[in-house]
Amino acid sequence: MQLPPWIEGTFLRSRLGRRIFLTFCVAVVVPAAAVSWLAWRTASADALETSQAALRTEIKHYALNLFERLESAHALLRQVGANDRSTEADAALLAPFFSSVETLPLPLDGAAGGAGLGGWLARHAGDQALSTALVVLPARQDGEEAQVVILVPNRSERGDGLLAGVVRPGFLWGESDDQAFNGRLCVLAGDRVLRCHGDLPEAAQTRTAIRDEWELFLEPAFGAGSWRVTAVAERAPVLASYLGFLAPLALGLLLLVLMLSSMEIRRILVPLERLVGRIRAVGQGATTQADTRMDDEFETLARTFDDMEGRIRRQMDTLRILSEIDRLILERVPAAAVVDVVIARIHEISRVDGIGVSLAGVDPQQPKRHFLRMRGQRQVEAGSALPDTLHEAAYALEPGQWTPMREVGEGFAARGVQEVLVLAVGHREQSRAWIALACGDGGTPGEEVLLEVRDLAERVAVALAVEEHENLLLFQARHDPLTGLANRLAALEALDLAIEGAKASGETFATVFIDLDRFKSINDGLGHAQGDTVLVRAGELIRQGIGPDSFLARFGGDEFFVILRNVQSPADAARITSGLAASFATPLVSNGTELVVGFSAGVALYPEHGSQAHELIHNSDVAMYRAKKAGGGRMAFFDEEMNAAALNRVQLENDLRAAIRAGLLEVHYQPRVDSRSGRIVGTEALARWTHPVRGRIAPDTFIGVAEECGLIEELGELVLRKACHQLAAWKSGGIDPGLLAINVSSYQLRSGHLADTVGRAVAASGIQWRDLEIEVTESLLVSGSGAALQQLQALREAGATVAIDDFGTGYSSLAYLTRLPVDTLKIDRAFMADLAEDGASLAVVRSIIALARALDKNIVAEGVESAAHVQLLRGLGCHIVQGYVYYPPLDPGACAEVLQRLATQDGRVASTR
Ligand code: C2E
Ligand code: CA
Ligand code: CA
Repeated sequence: MQLPPWIEGTFLRSRLGRRIFLTFCVAVVVPAAAVSWLAWRTASADALETSQAALRTEIKHYALNLFERLESAHALLRQVGANDRSTEADAALLAPFFSSVETLPLPLDGAAGGAGLGGWLARHAGDQALSTALVVLPARQDGEEAQVVILVPNRSERGDGLLAGVVRPGFLWGESDDQAFNGRLCVLAGDRVLRCHGDLPEAAQTRTAIRDEWELFLEPAFGAGSWRVTAVAERAPVLASYLGFLAPLALGLLLLVLMLSSMEIRRILVPLERLVGRIRAVGQGATTQADTRMDDEFETLARTFDDMEGRIRRQMDTLRILSEIDRLILERVPAAAVVDVVIARIHEISRVDGIGVSLAGVDPQQPKRHFLRMRGQRQVEAGSALPDTLHEAAYALEPGQWTPMREVGEGFAARGVQEVLVLAVGHREQSRAWIALACGDGGTPGEEVLLEVRDLAERVAVALAVEEHENLLLFQARHDPLTGLANRLAALEALDLAIEGAKASGETFATVFIDLDRFKSINDGLGHAQGDTVLVRAGELIRQGIGPDSFLARFGGDEFFVILRNVQSPADAARITSGLAASFATPLVSNGTELVVGFSAGVALYPEHGSQAHELIHNSDVAMYRAKKAGGGRMAFFDEEMNAAALNRVQLENDLRAAIRAGLLEVHYQPRVDSRSGRIVGTEALARWTHPVRGRIAPDTFIGVAEECGLIEELGELVLRKACHQLAAWKSGGIDPGLLAINVSSYQLRSGHLADTVGRAVAASGIQWRDLEIEVTESLLVSGSGAALQQLQALREAGATVAIDDFGTGYSSLAYLTRLPVDTLKIDRAFMADLAEDGASLAVVRSIIALARALDKNIVAEGVESAAHVQLLRGLGCHIVQGYVYYPPLDPGACAEVLQRLATQDGRVASTR
């Protein structure tokens, strides 16, 4: 509503203010008006009465005066009449009262006298004049007044007569009375107006005029008819005087009303406006200041409002927090983030000593996630690093109920909490989360807080459900529903990760694209169900074949993709693939029909064949196509050269494996000779393999292959067994070849059962432990594997001796050498090649020999090819020599021959001696 400008800024701008003001006005004006009206009515009635009474008094007064004047005139006239004679004195006496006095004889003669008083009297009064003392005679001429005549008997000497006096009007009507009247006073005798005083008031015609009359009884005193005195007067001016005091009164009242109402309105409006202001502010989310004291209902109202504001604020905060949580849930953040918000909120609204939250997954085996925050802590301690923050029992509580528990769990107990209030939150009838409040000195939180915590707890449960759903979706998005294997998307991610990891660690890996051969015909011929079974089974086989560290995905159809971790060489990849091929050789499905499925595999290596995920996938796919094109059932590298080498290598491994398993490896023996006597003091067993196609393969090659593909233990055991049996056979044939030296790979030593293996071979062959010397390489001892040393110790304790092979190349420290469980040092054959006077090798050999002497070790020189070297070594003090200068490694037959020949020579020498 548009207000006039002068109201703006006053309390009248408020509608309530105006209403109160109007009410005040009505409350004051109506009674005041009513009272005024009543008062005015009463006053005007009083005034009327007073005026009336005054008028009556006035008339009466006038009438009595008139009567008195008539009386006195009468009395005077009677007195004169009673005198026998009239005198001059009488006339003087009467003059002020009577205008004329005549003595009339009786009877009155109307005719007589003519115009005289007697005649006039006789004509107008007749006989009446004899019975009355007062006669009113009409005016004798126009313009004259009626005459009042007093008659008294007159006893005179001329007989009885009448003394008639015309009362002087001036005396009778009292001229002075004319002014006295504020109205018109008239004296009437019958209908005849005798005299009127004053002017007829203007009001005489109006309702405000008042009238009265007084009857003047003349009968008793004069025996004449009554006169009437009538008067008309103006009513007293009631209203004017009334208004005279009413106006200030009304004004005063109005002022009073204004003052009181404005005071009251102010007292109501000010706190009211303040309240309204606060409500508005609260509505806009601002905080307001509580009102100062007022000591009335407004204070109560303000206090109630304070309470309400607090409540509303909390509820608004609650809504804000809940919607914040809802937003987080919609944004699919992990449930832990929601728990953070929830704990912060509980921390804010309650005064509990600590808050614990636990989340359980759908799978009861999964570890539960715990969160804990004590009062004063700024951060939430999270993770299953807080095991059993509360006993598992909390999960068994009835969902939705606050339950006090004395079993507070480790997290709380460590902080001195003795009792907690626990709320388990159910999700599909199973408690999936709980919230525990540690209530210390602050007491149990109020109902409102508990209700809000319950709301929050439910949000936590929802967040948990959403998280699980999200995880499921994530899983589904990255997995193949048929086999449960990862899909292409997941493979790309895994590949990216592998590339990142490889960049950081320098690791190399291989990607393998596998495609089943002729899968389409299986699908078409046996139906999709059977096809699906083949796919699942193939997935399982590949999984087993590649080991737990590698990654397997199905790209759809019959395509599988593998990331082989930690592949050092192409051969590693080739080996695994050929292993897979072996496992595919058994029937995949035996559902009535036995089904053997082959596959083609393509291999790409990181980083040689691609540094990007898609590149590696593409290149292994290309390699796979090559394998397919070549007829299937095989693997191919992306790089063709590598292809040949790797295939070659794998072929070799397979052949070696077969040879070992078939016991096709042979052992040759190279004698050790004492250069002083030329006698054979021992032989070294050396493995020999003749490949059916490739012919002789160097031990350095196939020993390396055996070591890399895990065949070395089998190989070593085979050689050991054969050598021990050979030794036993020679011995039983009467030939003594001395010590049997066996080469042992570091792999055999590290595996930890060499001593057992040797023990079995010794036992099986029936040779003596002391007939055996175990040759190990220096590098193995330097790297100092505890398990390896233990094995050597065990072998020595059993009676065998231990030699360090290829000594001088492995940088053994002298100090170390003293502690090693070895008996013999074998100088590496590399020193023999350039063993010349003053050469570096000579110096080394010389010092090795000196060292062996000092440490009381045996010393053997191997690879000795010339007699000069033999002489040189002899000069240095090394007598045991192995090398082409005496014998190359010999097959058992040849070796036996040599031993036999030497034995006979010895026999001959002995016999000739
Ligand atoms: P090794 O233990 O140092 O064996 C001595 C090697 O030197 C043998 O080579 C032998 O034929 C060769 N040799 C002997 N006299 C001479 C010579 O005067 N001049 C030259 N240049 N070479 C000579 P082989 O038989 O080829 O064996 C090579 C390596 O293979 C051996 O070196 C040994 O480390 C390993 N090895 C051989 N058989 C076995 C075995 O049964 N088990 C293990 N673990 N390793 C074996
Ligand atoms: Ca050796
Ligand atoms: Ca050697």
